[in-house]
Amino acid sequence: MNHAFFQTLNDGIRNSFTEYAKFPFLEIGDDIFSYAEIGGECAQLANCILDITPESEKFVGVFGYKSKTAYVGIYGVLTAGKAYVPLNPHFPGERLAKIVALAELKTIILAEECVQSFNEFANEIAALKIICYLSDEAIKKLAADFPQHQFVSIEKWHNADIFPEVRVSPQNYAYLLFTSGSTGIPKGVGVTHANVCAYANYQIEHYEISTADKMSQMPDITFDLSVHDLFVSVLSGACLAIVPENEMLAPAKFIKEKQITFWTSVPSVVVFLDRFKMLKPNAFPSIRRTMFCGEALPAKSAELWQQAAPNALVENTYGPTEATVAITNYVWDSRTSPAASKNEIVPLGKVFATQKVRIVDENLAEVKPGEIGEIILGGSQVAPGYFNDQKKTAEKFITFDDAPETLWYKTGDLGTINEDGVLFYAGRIDEQVKIRGYRVELQEIDKVLREAAGTDLAIAVVKKTGDGETLLAFVQSAENQELRRKIIEHCRRVLPDYMVPSDIKLIDEMPFNQNGKIDRKVILSDV
Ligand code: AMP
Repeated sequence: MNHAFFQTLNDGIRNSFTEYAKFPFLEIGDDIFSYAEIGGECAQLANCILDITPESEKFVGVFGYKSKTAYVGIYGVLTAGKAYVPLNPHFPGERLAKIVALAELKTIILAEECVQSFNEFANEIAALKIICYLSDEAIKKLAADFPQHQFVSIEKWHNADIFPEVRVSPQNYAYLLFTSGSTGIPKGVGVTHANVCAYANYQIEHYEISTADKMSQMPDITFDLSVHDLFVSVLSGACLAIVPENEMLAPAKFIKEKQITFWTSVPSVVVFLDRFKMLKPNAFPSIRRTMFCGEALPAKSAELWQQAAPNALVENTYGPTEATVAITNYVWDSRTSPAASKNEIVPLGKVFATQKVRIVDENLAEVKPGEIGEIILGGSQVAPGYFNDQKKTAEKFITFDDAPETLWYKTGDLGTINEDGVLFYAGRIDEQVKIRGYRVELQEIDKVLREAAGTDLAIAVVKKTGDGETLLAFVQSAENQELRRKIIEHCRRVLPDYMVPSDIKLIDEMPFNQNGKIDRKVILSDV
């Protein structure tokens, strides 16, 4: 199928609103909105944003959760020529305030479902312009409660449904996503239009996505896997069906009712569906493509899914936020893949034809096939770096003298590559872990534990269980329940729920390794 490729999301999204005008675009619960309907609302928002923000303001926050406003917010910000910064009402107020400050936000879009969460940190942030999708009464209340902020009703732009002309360079940021940072401060990854278009255009061709497809939208918009759903759909004319919050754990009913053709999620979903006995053979005949990404895919999960979705091409894909969603892929084959898997983990597969991968040693020299080294990724999907953090950017984003035009990202992932160019995952160099698909630096949790416990002798570990991970905290202390309660409360106040330990264990003596650091491995082996 012929597909028009665009250099910026702004051009591509605007084109789709016209080209696919009558096709369904967003399905939320029983509501279905066409491309033309969402396009009209995005134009209103784009006009509003341009009327109230100066050109120098590059980012706009989107504070919405699985609602029409959340999606109109993202596409509307992009068509205004700005970059979006997603905010998540499930994050504690303190973290949200930190993200607003780090992204230097001056304007955010506020949806109804996030008002309560906004109340929690509204007094912790500098003055904002807040574009409200709320009743007049709700806006009045907010304005009275928080006079330092300026609340603007979108209603005023009700008739402004012609898109403003804005110029966007492919090198401009499209979004900023914050990931866990080992220093305790979230890292903002700035991803450009060129990065996302390289990714989405490749995927649309690879999976042959069209108006006949209905894609799932499961991950929160603060997680980069959502970028796949958000832009592969809109740029190809597909429909995007939003997985309701109460079905996120076990979305079997959703897949069947909505007749999803393209499913995307982290692999943990398979484990949950299996545990709830919802993965019967041929349970999901409508699915023709499945993309798993974000964490290691167990061979057992791939096969269970293949049987439940027999008409689907099932793929394991791999990539970090810094290289835009995914950069390698492996197609599961029930006959040959079990034997091809290592330690019962599905291979990461080959790098996309448009991108580059190398496995290197500490001196960045390529290792031989089969040898373990760090996975580094290069090409047009690699983001320019961390926002406002030149030091971290210089550490992780590199070039080679013989081809300085290619930017590479050092992933911190260990892997091997075979003679055929197939990549295998072999763990991490550092203390980054995945918890239910969320990327977490354990040191970020350590820091919070230490603040709460009033001692440096506190550490977080992840215990792998048969069907997932359990996050535990260990603190050297003779104190008892009171300290445990205090630590948990503090964690809940500053960390997203997936980073809050499920138990605090008080121990008499911390084990140390030869370098004098607390030894996570010894702690884990005792759990
Ligand atoms: P994120 O930036 O949240 O997408 O997390 C990126 C990290 O998730 C990678 O650096 C890997 O450690 C891990 N990851 C992503 N996809 C896979 C996969 N298919 N298999 C194993 N690990 C993965």
